[in-house]
Amino acid sequence: MSASESFAALLARVRACRLCADHLPLGPRPLLQVLPEARLLVCGQAPGTKAHESGTPWDDPSGERLREWLGLERRQFYDPRQVALVGVGLCYPGRLPQGGDAPPRPECAPLWHPPLRAALPAIGLTVLVGSYAQDYYLGRRRGATMTETVRAFRDHLPALIPTPHPSWRTTGWLARNPWFEAELLPVLRARVRGIIAT
Ligand code: SF4
Repeated sequence: MSASESFAALLARVRACRLCADHLPLGPRPLLQVLPEARLLVCGQAPGTKAHESGTPWDDPSGERLREWLGLERRQFYDPRQVALVGVGLCYPGRLPQGGDAPPRPECAPLWHPPLRAALPAIGLTVLVGSYAQDYYLGRRRGATMTETVRAFRDHLPALIPTPHPSWRTTGWLARNPWFEAELLPVLRARVRGIIAT
């Protein structure tokens, strides 16, 4: 966002984006929740087909688990004056030949995160949900796995907290990594409580 561009104009540019339209099987539909007064930024991966159709990110079992991790009720999570939802890919990227959603389009985060972050001056905490968001914001440390990145969450406090993606695939990971619920979640919820109005 340039100094002269309004927040509404920036948002209109994002919503009209067609940069990688040729690569999107369902076409562009940038999905995000933002207002300049938001205090918590949730940065995940790209939307899936359900979110693409409904226009509502995180309205699924993964979102339920994520809200539980954050200690937020649904009304708080979907209040754009409190919470910004901006993935590292804003449009559904399609499927991989071997199954599963494709990675977020690589053009998207470098194009839109810098101006959107600049337009969100009240963000006190960014939650990096999953490895794509961690790769973009933290860079991939040589050989570091998602688990190692999340386990080192204290390195990025107080501004950033990495978590796994809260999909059903994470259930086994949670059982193997009990420190996540015992150590990280209390810190995450305390940070969220500290910045979100009830
Ligand atoms: S994925 Fe991002 S860069 Fe591509 S069309 Fe959607 S908003 Fe634009």
